[in-house]
Amino acid sequence: MASVQLDKVSKIFDNQVRAVDAVDIDIRDKEFIVLVGPSGCGKSTTLRMIAGLEEISAGEIRIDDRVVNQVPPKDRDIAMVFQNYALYPHMTVFENMAFGLKLRKYPKDEIEQRVKEAADILSIEGLLDRKPKQLSGGQRQRVAVGRAIVRKPKVFLFDEPLSNLDAKLRVQMRTEISKLHTRLETTMIYVTHDQTEAMTMGDRIVVMKDGKVQQIDTPMNLYDAPVNKFVAGFIGSPAMNFINGEIVRDEGLFFRTAGMKLRIPDSRSGLLAAHTGRPVVLGIRPEDLSEYDLAPAQIPEMSALCRVEVVEPMGNEIFVYLANGGESLVARMNVQSRPSVRADYRVQFDMNKAHFFMAESEEAIH
Ligand code: ATP
Repeated sequence: MASVQLDKVSKIFDNQVRAVDAVDIDIRDKEFIVLVGPSGCGKSTTLRMIAGLEEISAGEIRIDDRVVNQVPPKDRDIAMVFQNYALYPHMTVFENMAFGLKLRKYPKDEIEQRVKEAADILSIEGLLDRKPKQLSGGQRQRVAVGRAIVRKPKVFLFDEPLSNLDAKLRVQMRTEISKLHTRLETTMIYVTHDQTEAMTMGDRIVVMKDGKVQQIDTPMNLYDAPVNKFVAGFIGSPAMNFINGEIVRDEGLFFRTAGMKLRIPDSRSGLLAAHTGRPVVLGIRPEDLSEYDLAPAQIPEMSALCRVEVVEPMGNEIFVYLANGGESLVARMNVQSRPSVRADYRVQFDMNKAHFFMAESEEAIH
Protein backbone atom coordinates (compact mmCIF):
# COMPACT_ATOMS: atom_id res chain seq x y z
CA MET A 1 0.00 0.00 0.00
CA ALA A 2 1.33 3.39 -0.92
CA SER A 3 -0.71 6.35 -1.93
CA VAL A 4 0.96 9.74 -2.27
CA GLN A 5 -0.85 13.03 -1.88
CA LEU A 6 0.40 16.48 -2.64
CA ASP A 7 -1.77 19.16 -1.13
CA LYS A 8 -1.10 22.75 -2.29
CA VAL A 9 2.61 22.02 -2.44
CA SER A 10 4.87 24.93 -3.37
CA LYS A 11 8.59 25.47 -3.68
CA ILE A 12 10.08 28.92 -3.61
CA PHE A 13 13.87 28.90 -3.93
CA ASP A 14 16.11 31.40 -2.15
CA ASN A 15 16.35 33.47 -5.33
CA GLN A 16 12.54 33.86 -5.12
CA VAL A 17 11.94 31.52 -8.09
CA ARG A 18 8.53 29.93 -7.55
CA ALA A 19 9.44 26.59 -9.10
CA VAL A 20 6.32 24.73 -7.92
CA ASP A 21 3.09 26.58 -7.28
CA ALA A 22 0.27 25.12 -5.15
CA VAL A 23 0.35 21.69 -6.76
CA ASP A 24 -2.40 19.18 -5.90
CA ILE A 25 -1.84 15.58 -6.99
CA ASP A 26 -3.56 12.53 -5.59
CA ILE A 27 -1.59 9.41 -6.52
CA ARG A 28 -3.30 6.08 -5.89
CA ASP A 29 -1.74 2.92 -4.59
CA LYS A 30 0.03 0.97 -7.39
CA GLU A 31 -0.49 3.76 -9.88
CA PHE A 32 2.09 4.66 -12.56
CA ILE A 33 1.94 8.42 -12.70
CA VAL A 34 4.02 10.53 -15.06
CA LEU A 35 4.91 14.18 -14.47
CA VAL A 36 5.56 15.79 -17.85
CA GLY A 37 6.23 19.28 -19.08
CA PRO A 38 8.84 21.45 -20.76
CA SER A 39 12.22 22.18 -19.23
CA GLY A 40 11.93 24.32 -16.10
CA CYS A 41 8.25 23.57 -15.42
CA GLY A 42 9.03 22.26 -11.93
CA LYS A 43 8.61 18.52 -12.40
CA SER A 44 12.02 17.51 -10.99
CA THR A 45 11.58 19.82 -8.03
CA THR A 46 8.18 18.22 -7.33
CA LEU A 47 9.74 14.76 -7.43
CA ARG A 48 12.62 15.84 -5.21
CA MET A 49 10.17 17.18 -2.64
CA ILE A 50 8.37 13.82 -2.61
CA ALA A 51 11.77 12.15 -2.11
CA GLY A 52 12.63 14.55 0.69
CA LEU A 53 15.68 15.89 -1.16
CA GLU A 54 14.19 19.36 -1.34
CA GLU A 55 12.42 21.20 1.44
CA ILE A 56 8.75 22.06 0.94
CA SER A 57 8.03 25.81 1.14
CA ALA A 58 4.26 25.41 1.63
CA GLY A 59 1.64 22.69 1.57
CA GLU A 60 1.71 19.09 2.65
CA ILE A 61 2.96 15.79 1.25
CA ARG A 62 1.46 12.58 2.61
CA ILE A 63 2.60 9.04 1.93
CA ASP A 64 -0.04 6.54 3.01
CA ASP A 65 -1.83 9.30 4.90
CA ARG A 66 1.27 10.13 6.96
CA VAL A 67 2.54 13.68 6.59
CA VAL A 68 6.19 13.42 5.55
CA ASN A 69 7.15 17.10 5.27
CA GLN A 70 9.69 16.73 8.06
CA VAL A 71 10.62 13.06 7.49
CA PRO A 72 14.19 12.58 6.18
CA PRO A 73 14.55 10.81 2.79
CA LYS A 74 15.87 7.58 4.29
CA ASP A 75 12.76 7.16 6.42
CA ARG A 76 10.23 7.69 3.64
CA ASP A 77 10.46 4.17 2.22
CA ILE A 78 10.95 5.36 -1.31
CA ALA A 79 13.70 4.71 -3.86
CA MET A 80 14.76 7.07 -6.60
CA VAL A 81 16.41 6.37 -9.94
CA PHE A 82 18.33 9.40 -11.20
CA GLN A 83 18.97 10.60 -14.72
CA ASN A 84 22.73 10.13 -14.39
CA TYR A 85 22.25 6.79 -12.54
CA ALA A 86 24.54 7.96 -9.67
CA LEU A 87 26.44 4.65 -9.48
CA TYR A 88 29.59 4.41 -7.36
CA PRO A 89 32.43 3.99 -9.89
CA HIS A 90 34.76 2.07 -7.56
CA MET A 91 32.16 -0.55 -6.63
CA THR A 92 31.05 -3.58 -8.62
CA VAL A 93 27.48 -3.92 -9.84
CA PHE A 94 26.78 -6.26 -6.92
CA GLU A 95 28.22 -3.79 -4.40
CA ASN A 96 26.32 -0.91 -5.98
CA MET A 97 23.07 -2.80 -5.67
CA ALA A 98 23.81 -4.06 -2.18
CA PHE A 99 25.01 -0.73 -0.82
CA GLY A 100 21.68 0.63 0.46
CA LEU A 101 20.86 -2.65 2.18
CA LYS A 102 24.30 -2.86 3.81
CA LEU A 103 23.83 0.64 5.21
CA ARG A 104 20.57 -0.51 6.71
CA LYS A 105 22.38 -3.51 8.22
CA TYR A 106 20.46 -6.22 6.39
CA PRO A 107 21.85 -9.74 6.96
CA LYS A 108 24.32 -10.92 4.31
CA ASP A 109 22.11 -13.79 3.10
CA GLU A 110 19.15 -11.53 2.56
CA ILE A 111 21.26 -8.98 0.70
CA GLU A 112 22.54 -11.70 -1.62
CA GLN A 113 19.10 -13.05 -2.21
CA ARG A 114 17.57 -9.66 -2.95
CA VAL A 115 20.39 -8.65 -5.32
CA LYS A 116 20.11 -11.96 -7.12
CA GLU A 117 16.36 -11.61 -7.47
CA ALA A 118 16.64 -8.05 -8.83
CA ALA A 119 19.47 -9.04 -11.19
CA ASP A 120 17.28 -11.85 -12.46
CA ILE A 121 14.31 -9.53 -13.10
CA LEU A 122 16.57 -7.14 -15.01
CA SER A 123 18.65 -9.80 -16.80
CA ILE A 124 21.95 -8.53 -15.43
CA GLU A 125 23.04 -11.67 -13.55
CA GLY A 126 26.16 -11.88 -15.74
CA LEU A 127 27.30 -8.36 -14.89
CA LEU A 128 27.44 -8.49 -11.10
CA ASP A 129 31.26 -8.50 -10.91
CA ARG A 130 31.78 -5.63 -13.31
CA LYS A 131 32.46 -1.99 -12.48
CA PRO A 132 30.14 0.69 -13.91
CA LYS A 133 32.73 1.85 -16.47
CA GLN A 134 32.68 -1.66 -17.99
CA LEU A 135 28.97 -1.36 -18.76
CA SER A 136 26.98 0.15 -21.62
CA GLY A 137 24.56 3.02 -20.93
CA GLY A 138 21.59 0.66 -20.99
CA GLN A 139 23.26 -1.76 -18.58
CA ARG A 140 24.11 1.05 -16.16
CA GLN A 141 20.52 2.13 -16.31
CA ARG A 142 19.41 -1.38 -15.32
CA VAL A 143 21.83 -1.40 -12.40
CA ALA A 144 20.40 1.91 -11.22
CA VAL A 145 16.90 0.42 -11.38
CA GLY A 146 18.18 -2.75 -9.67
CA ARG A 147 19.55 -0.72 -6.81
CA ALA A 148 16.07 0.70 -6.29
CA ILE A 149 14.32 -2.68 -6.60
CA VAL A 150 16.40 -4.41 -3.90
CA ARG A 151 15.10 -1.94 -1.35
CA LYS A 152 11.50 -3.09 -2.01
CA PRO A 153 10.29 0.45 -1.44
CA LYS A 154 6.69 1.58 -1.16
CA VAL A 155 7.19 4.10 -3.94
CA PHE A 156 9.61 4.31 -6.87
CA LEU A 157 10.62 7.72 -8.17
CA PHE A 158 12.23 8.07 -11.60
CA ASP A 159 13.82 11.33 -12.74
CA GLU A 160 14.24 11.20 -16.53
CA PRO A 161 15.95 7.80 -16.29
CA LEU A 162 16.07 7.18 -20.04
CA SER A 163 17.30 10.51 -21.34
CA ASN A 164 20.94 9.38 -21.62
CA LEU A 165 20.09 6.40 -23.83
CA ASP A 166 19.89 6.29 -27.62
CA ALA A 167 16.45 6.31 -29.23
CA LYS A 168 16.18 2.56 -29.78
CA LEU A 169 17.27 1.62 -26.29
CA ARG A 170 14.94 4.21 -24.84
CA VAL A 171 11.96 2.53 -26.49
CA GLN A 172 13.11 -0.86 -25.21
CA MET A 173 13.68 0.34 -21.63
CA ARG A 174 10.33 2.11 -21.70
CA THR A 175 8.54 -1.21 -22.13
CA GLU A 176 10.79 -2.84 -19.55
CA ILE A 177 9.91 -0.26 -16.92
CA SER A 178 6.22 -0.71 -17.74
CA LYS A 179 6.59 -4.48 -17.34
CA LEU A 180 8.45 -3.94 -14.09
CA HIS A 181 5.54 -1.89 -12.82
CA THR A 182 3.10 -4.68 -13.64
CA ARG A 183 5.35 -7.22 -11.96
CA LEU A 184 6.19 -5.28 -8.78
CA GLU A 185 2.75 -3.74 -8.33
CA THR A 186 4.26 -0.68 -6.69
CA THR A 187 3.39 2.99 -6.94
CA MET A 188 5.71 4.67 -9.46
CA ILE A 189 6.18 8.37 -10.11
CA TYR A 190 8.08 9.12 -13.27
CA VAL A 191 9.37 12.47 -14.52
CA THR A 192 10.04 13.14 -18.19
CA HIS A 193 9.89 15.99 -20.70
CA ASP A 194 9.06 13.47 -23.44
CA GLN A 195 5.34 13.32 -24.18
CA THR A 196 5.67 9.96 -25.95
CA GLU A 197 7.18 8.43 -22.83
CA ALA A 198 4.38 9.94 -20.78
CA MET A 199 1.66 8.70 -23.11
CA THR A 200 3.00 5.15 -23.38
CA MET A 201 3.87 4.57 -19.72
CA GLY A 202 1.47 6.49 -17.52
CA ASP A 203 -1.80 5.24 -16.05
CA ARG A 204 -2.35 8.94 -15.57
CA ILE A 205 -0.30 11.93 -16.62
CA VAL A 206 0.24 15.23 -14.82
CA VAL A 207 0.99 17.98 -17.34
CA MET A 208 2.88 20.90 -15.77
CA LYS A 209 3.83 24.37 -16.95
CA ASP A 210 5.46 27.23 -15.02
CA GLY A 211 5.22 25.33 -11.74
CA LYS A 212 1.49 24.73 -12.09
CA VAL A 213 -0.51 21.63 -12.87
CA GLN A 214 -2.40 22.11 -16.13
CA GLN A 215 -4.29 18.81 -16.28
CA ILE A 216 -4.22 15.38 -14.65
CA ASP A 217 -5.81 12.64 -16.71
CA THR A 218 -5.41 9.35 -18.54
CA PRO A 219 -3.34 9.49 -21.74
CA MET A 220 -6.39 9.15 -23.99
CA ASN A 221 -8.40 11.81 -22.15
CA LEU A 222 -5.48 14.22 -22.38
CA TYR A 223 -5.28 13.56 -26.09
CA ASP A 224 -8.99 13.78 -26.78
CA ALA A 225 -10.05 16.47 -24.33
CA PRO A 226 -7.17 18.81 -23.46
CA VAL A 227 -8.33 21.57 -21.11
CA ASN A 228 -6.25 24.27 -22.76
CA LYS A 229 -4.08 25.10 -25.75
CA PHE A 230 -0.87 24.30 -23.91
CA VAL A 231 -1.88 20.71 -23.11
CA ALA A 232 -3.31 20.31 -26.62
CA GLY A 233 -0.02 21.37 -28.18
CA PHE A 234 2.23 19.47 -25.80
CA ILE A 235 0.58 16.06 -26.15
CA GLY A 236 0.75 14.47 -29.62
CA SER A 237 3.38 14.26 -32.33
CA PRO A 238 3.44 15.94 -34.77
CA ALA A 239 1.79 18.57 -32.61
CA MET A 240 -1.78 19.78 -33.03
CA ASN A 241 -2.22 22.56 -35.61
CA PHE A 242 -3.53 25.87 -34.30
CA ILE A 243 -5.27 28.41 -36.51
CA ASN A 244 -6.38 31.86 -35.34
CA GLY A 245 -9.76 32.97 -36.58
CA GLU A 246 -13.27 33.87 -35.49
CA ILE A 247 -16.70 32.29 -35.24
CA VAL A 248 -19.19 33.74 -37.71
CA ARG A 249 -22.86 33.03 -38.46
CA ASP A 250 -23.90 32.59 -42.08
CA GLU A 251 -26.69 30.05 -42.55
CA GLY A 252 -25.05 28.05 -39.84
CA LEU A 253 -21.94 28.53 -37.79
CA PHE A 254 -18.50 28.80 -39.37
CA PHE A 255 -14.88 29.18 -38.30
CA ARG A 256 -13.33 31.84 -40.53
CA THR A 257 -9.84 33.15 -41.24
CA ALA A 258 -8.53 35.21 -44.16
CA GLY A 259 -7.98 32.04 -46.18
CA MET A 260 -10.58 29.53 -44.98
CA LYS A 261 -14.16 29.18 -43.93
CA LEU A 262 -15.06 25.89 -42.27
CA ARG A 263 -18.55 24.80 -41.30
CA ILE A 264 -18.98 23.86 -37.64
CA PRO A 265 -21.07 20.68 -37.37
CA ASP A 266 -24.43 20.96 -35.62
CA SER A 267 -23.19 18.75 -32.79
CA ARG A 268 -20.65 21.45 -31.84
CA SER A 269 -22.56 24.59 -32.69
CA GLY A 270 -24.53 24.77 -29.42
CA LEU A 271 -21.45 25.63 -27.38
CA LEU A 272 -19.70 27.68 -30.01
CA ALA A 273 -22.67 29.90 -30.85
CA ALA A 274 -21.98 31.87 -27.67
CA HIS A 275 -18.60 32.82 -29.16
CA THR A 276 -19.98 34.27 -32.39
CA GLY A 277 -17.97 37.31 -33.43
CA ARG A 278 -15.16 36.49 -31.01
CA PRO A 279 -11.59 35.46 -31.79
CA VAL A 280 -10.95 31.78 -31.19
CA VAL A 281 -8.22 29.30 -32.00
CA LEU A 282 -9.11 26.16 -33.90
CA GLY A 283 -6.97 23.13 -33.03
CA ILE A 284 -6.85 20.20 -35.41
CA ARG A 285 -4.60 17.16 -35.08
CA PRO A 286 -2.51 16.22 -38.14
CA GLU A 287 -4.39 12.92 -38.54
CA ASP A 288 -7.71 14.77 -38.70
CA LEU A 289 -6.71 16.40 -41.98
CA SER A 290 -7.03 14.35 -45.15
CA GLU A 291 -6.96 14.69 -48.90
CA TYR A 292 -10.18 16.14 -50.28
CA ASP A 293 -11.07 13.85 -53.18
CA LEU A 294 -14.77 14.40 -53.68
CA ALA A 295 -15.64 11.11 -51.99
CA PRO A 296 -19.33 11.16 -51.00
CA ALA A 297 -18.57 11.39 -47.26
CA GLN A 298 -16.60 14.58 -47.74
CA ILE A 299 -18.10 17.99 -47.21
CA PRO A 300 -16.80 20.89 -49.32
CA GLU A 301 -17.66 23.39 -46.59
CA MET A 302 -15.30 21.56 -44.27
CA SER A 303 -12.32 21.78 -46.61
CA ALA A 304 -9.74 24.44 -47.41
CA LEU A 305 -7.47 25.09 -50.33
CA CYS A 306 -3.85 24.94 -49.22
CA ARG A 307 -0.44 25.02 -50.85
CA VAL A 308 1.85 22.05 -50.41
CA GLU A 309 5.26 23.08 -49.11
CA VAL A 310 6.97 19.83 -48.13
CA VAL A 311 6.05 16.13 -48.30
CA GLU A 312 7.81 13.74 -45.91
CA PRO A 313 7.36 10.03 -46.61
CA MET A 314 7.42 8.00 -43.40
CA GLY A 315 6.93 4.58 -45.01
CA ASN A 316 3.49 3.75 -43.63
CA GLU A 317 2.18 7.33 -43.95
CA ILE A 318 3.18 10.76 -45.18
CA PHE A 319 3.51 14.09 -43.41
CA VAL A 320 2.37 16.96 -45.59
CA TYR A 321 3.37 20.52 -44.66
CA LEU A 322 0.83 23.01 -45.95
CA ALA A 323 0.27 26.76 -46.08
CA ASN A 324 -3.01 28.62 -46.15
CA GLY A 325 -2.66 32.39 -46.12
CA GLY A 326 -0.29 33.07 -43.25
CA GLU A 327 -1.08 29.78 -41.49
CA SER A 328 1.14 26.69 -41.57
CA LEU A 329 -0.35 23.24 -41.09
CA VAL A 330 0.94 19.70 -40.96
CA ALA A 331 -1.21 16.78 -42.07
CA ARG A 332 -0.65 13.11 -41.47
CA MET A 333 -2.06 11.26 -44.45
CA ASN A 334 -2.18 7.78 -45.84
CA VAL A 335 0.29 6.85 -48.56
CA GLN A 336 -2.43 6.83 -51.21
CA SER A 337 -2.71 10.63 -50.90
CA ARG A 338 -1.01 12.42 -53.79
CA PRO A 339 0.07 15.93 -52.81
CA SER A 340 2.58 17.59 -55.19
CA VAL A 341 5.03 20.06 -53.77
CA ARG A 342 4.25 23.70 -54.61
CA ALA A 343 0.81 22.71 -55.98
CA ASP A 344 -2.60 23.76 -54.70
CA TYR A 345 -4.22 21.01 -52.67
CA ARG A 346 -7.67 20.84 -51.09
CA VAL A 347 -7.65 19.46 -47.56
CA GLN A 348 -10.61 18.02 -45.67
CA PHE A 349 -10.93 18.96 -41.98
CA ASP A 350 -12.64 16.44 -39.71
CA MET A 351 -14.58 19.14 -37.91
CA ASN A 352 -16.13 16.67 -35.47
CA LYS A 353 -12.62 16.20 -34.07
CA ALA A 354 -11.69 19.89 -34.07
CA HIS A 355 -10.85 21.62 -30.78
CA PHE A 356 -11.63 25.25 -30.03
CA PHE A 357 -9.88 27.53 -27.59
CA MET A 358 -10.64 31.06 -26.47
CA ALA A 359 -8.02 33.30 -28.06
CA GLU A 360 -7.10 35.22 -24.94
CA SER A 361 -7.33 32.73 -22.05
CA GLU A 362 -6.37 29.76 -24.28
CA GLU A 363 -8.85 27.61 -22.39
CA ALA A 364 -10.78 24.96 -24.28
CA ILE A 365 -14.38 25.63 -25.24
CA HIS A 366 -16.06 22.34 -24.30
P1 ATP B 1 14.24 20.03 -16.52
O1 ATP B 1 13.44 19.12 -17.40
O2 ATP B 1 15.04 21.04 -17.30
O3 ATP B 1 14.98 19.34 -15.44
P2 ATP B 1 12.13 20.68 -14.62
O4 ATP B 1 10.76 20.79 -15.11
O5 ATP B 1 12.50 19.43 -13.93
O6 ATP B 1 13.14 20.99 -15.79
P3 ATP B 1 12.99 22.02 -12.25
O7 ATP B 1 14.38 21.44 -12.29
O8 ATP B 1 12.05 21.48 -11.27
O9 ATP B 1 12.34 21.93 -13.68
O10 ATP B 1 13.13 23.59 -12.07
C1 ATP B 1 12.01 24.45 -11.96
C2 ATP B 1 12.47 25.89 -11.85
O11 ATP B 1 13.18 26.09 -10.63
C3 ATP B 1 13.41 26.35 -12.95
O12 ATP B 1 13.09 27.66 -13.28
C4 ATP B 1 14.76 26.25 -12.31
O13 ATP B 1 15.65 27.18 -12.89
C5 ATP B 1 14.47 26.58 -10.87
N1 ATP B 1 15.39 25.93 -9.93
C6 ATP B 1 15.64 24.61 -9.82
N2 ATP B 1 16.51 24.34 -8.83
C7 ATP B 1 16.83 25.55 -8.29
C8 ATP B 1 17.68 25.95 -7.20
N3 ATP B 1 18.37 25.08 -6.46
N4 ATP B 1 17.76 27.28 -6.93
C9 ATP B 1 17.04 28.17 -7.65
N5 ATP B 1 16.22 27.86 -8.67
C10 ATP B 1 16.11 26.56 -8.99
